Amino acid sequence: MTLDSPKLGCTDSPVRHERGQKAVFCGLTGIVWLHRKMQDAFFLVVGSRTCAHLLQAAAGVMIFAEPRFGTAVLEEQDLAGLADANAELDREVARLLERRPDIRQLFLVGSCPSEVIKLDLERAAERLNAHHAPHVRVYAYSGSGLDTTFTQGEDTCLAAMVPTLKPAETAELLVVGALPDVVEDQCASLLAQLGLPSVRFLPARRSDAAPAVGPNTRFILAQPFLGDTAAALERRGAKRIAAPFPFGEEGTTLWLKAVADVYGVSAETFEAVTAAPRARAKKALAAHRGTLEGRSLFLFPDSQLEIPLARFLARECGMVPTEVGTPFLHRAIMAPELALLPAGASLTEGQDLEAQLERHAAINPDLTVCGLGLANPLEAQGHATKWAIELVFTPIHFYEQAGDLAGLFSRPLRRRALLAGGSAA
Ligand code: SF4
Repeated sequence: MTLDSPKLGCTDSPVRHERGQKAVFCGLTGIVWLHRKMQDAFFLVVGSRTCAHLLQAAAGVMIFAEPRFGTAVLEEQDLAGLADANAELDREVARLLERRPDIRQLFLVGSCPSEVIKLDLERAAERLNAHHAPHVRVYAYSGSGLDTTFTQGEDTCLAAMVPTLKPAETAELLVVGALPDVVEDQCASLLAQLGLPSVRFLPARRSDAAPAVGPNTRFILAQPFLGDTAAALERRGAKRIAAPFPFGEEGTTLWLKAVADVYGVSAETFEAVTAAPRARAKKALAAHRGTLEGRSLFLFPDSQLEIPLARFLARECGMVPTEVGTPFLHRAIMAPELALLPAGASLTEGQDLEAQLERHAAINPDLTVCGLGLANPLEAQGHATKWAIELVFTPIHFYEQAGDLAGLFSRPLRRRALLAGGSAA
């Protein structure tokens, strides 16, 4: 099979739309990586004990002496409307900020319970800003399971920040999406070597480094799940650079090339900057290709990374995507990815869990990418699985991580082969 021909893409492939039972985390999960990224931020979930447990479980063993997330627990009397939840929230925030002068950004994060009792956190943020700005900037966004899934929490968080960004006076490139610091540094270094004069990141590591935005701003997404943030930036006049996402050697090269073309970087400079890291990435990928090549792949909808990952695994690792599920299909953002995804993969938007599990059983793929809730039962049935959540907790972007990204998928197959007493490669 030749995978390079554009006519083999999925641009015009039919998409199955499903509505039904879902098995996906809510948007609160994003706090786990966002609080690591934004070093002077605090995330205050206004929710129930269930929300607090979810955060604690998702954060795993990361217990800090001074944590930067917490839950203002709505008790029964709040939920029954017997207490003034706004007054209690104001008191909790005042107590927190007095104790923690290091906090410069406070995010009030909505949950299912706060939505059910119709607690208006945006108004609460306005009220609290009147008290605590300029030392602390207060934002509100929803991480509720009623209207967000998993990675959408980052999107609603960043989208809430965009209206408060200062107007840009200079033309800058904005890279959008929370990247681990080491990956952000690699990205900044590549863009600097290409000769880009000014590059900023959203979210910034600290509030005083927040980017400005305006009609001179060009932005490029580093994560595929940021549709609301992209729309908010466009409302501020910024223009999006369309590109596949920087996963693998090919994805990273096409992402950088899209930027290079906009900024008029010469072909010679591009080649000189990218040749060595491309070669390193290809070499790192080759170590996993033997395990992954020809193996079938099924992706349940979970992180919104599914389409770029299926493209990477098909084109650079030789895997054969069967069904590629995604919670949402943002056609404009995904267009460059769909054009590269090999035809033959079946695309599904949304989820009807039972029906999807039946299709999965019929296909019986070699590797399944899914959420934590599905992984254990599927493993028990004999399927090799990869937890989608690892894809947001592990550095996977750009050239130097290409091998690690492939390794996330080859490891379960290798482990299985070892347990069976054979060899996967
Ligand atoms: S926001 Fe909703 S789905 Fe998420 S932990 Fe809280 S109650 Fe559960």
